[in-house]
Amino acid sequence: MTNVPVHSGQTRLAGVVGWPVAHSRSPRLHGYWLDRHRIDGAYLPLPVEPRHFAGALRALPWLGFAGVNVTLPHKEAALTAVDAVTRTAARAGAVNTVIVEPGGGLLGDNTDGFGFLENLRAGQAGWSASQGPAVVLGAGGAARAVAAALLDAGAPELRVLNRNRARAEALAEALGGPIVVADWHQRHDVLDGAALLVNATTLGMAGQPDLDINLGLLPKPAWVTDLVYTPLETPLLTRARRDGHPVADGLGMLLHQGRGGFKAWFGPDPDVTEALRAFVLNAAVAP
Ligand code: NAP
Repeated sequence: MTNVPVHSGQTRLAGVVGWPVAHSRSPRLHGYWLDRHRIDGAYLPLPVEPRHFAGALRALPWLGFAGVNVTLPHKEAALTAVDAVTRTAARAGAVNTVIVEPGGGLLGDNTDGFGFLENLRAGQAGWSASQGPAVVLGAGGAARAVAAALLDAGAPELRVLNRNRARAEALAEALGGPIVVADWHQRHDVLDGAALLVNATTLGMAGQPDLDINLGLLPKPAWVTDLVYTPLETPLLTRARRDGHPVADGLGMLLHQGRGGFKAWFGPDPDVTEALRAFVLNAAVAP
């Protein structure tokens, strides 16, 4: 038999911890990069119930793991389950990447904001958060990581709107800086003069209602980006593209956020290419 994957005694191990985890595209993403770089490594889906999460993380160094990604519902629990967190993870209020350090300690990081910014930079050479005000719709975990990244990258103003306004206010208080909170019904008007619109809600996702927003006041050069990537082209992106806005989809963010973990666990800073996008998109994922 040929092409049988056999791991050596030196195989570097990583994976993604979630509950459930079968839907995750990360094994396909990291598997592609491992193959591309001919690395003796493995990246495994690790289904772990919430009540076992802290214990499973503690076991990583004992099992010889280089680290893991953390996904729903564990991202916030991971903040306190690790030994130390980066400033980025603390600002995001969540950990999505755990690195086992040489002494066996667990370092928690968050690469969602990096992935978000890199996806826009990849879409336009020279793109910068400092180009103008950004409108962020949503105040959940993803919105907070994105808002922190935009502020740290020099956004002059963030306009944050959430259906539940109190959550937007809590986000603004946690992050500090030039954040203006507005009511959800003002989402059409706050687009006036903005340089970027981000949908960080679940609206537009398959099975969810569409995002109801009038893009009329958004200046034409402003980027529109959706964190939702199922479907890849959300109704928001279709409309924005038709209106002449540059757009960036959520899959690009997912791919770029994976780079940090891969580099920390396996060495190379991997590329995000069209071939990778196609490979990850063709993933047969569980419903
Ligand atoms: P979350 O913490 O559950 O937050 C959900 C957000 O959606 C909240 O702001 C919520 O508002 C809002 N929302 C839900 N239903 C709504 C409705 N009917 N009308 C208005 N707002 C509504 O989720 P999350 O982890 O932040 O994820 C948000 C989205 O980002 C998801 O689609 C997720 O798949 C995506 N995401 C993508 C990436 C990527 O790499 N592309 C990474 C992370 C997340 P309330 O607070 O009012 O409920």
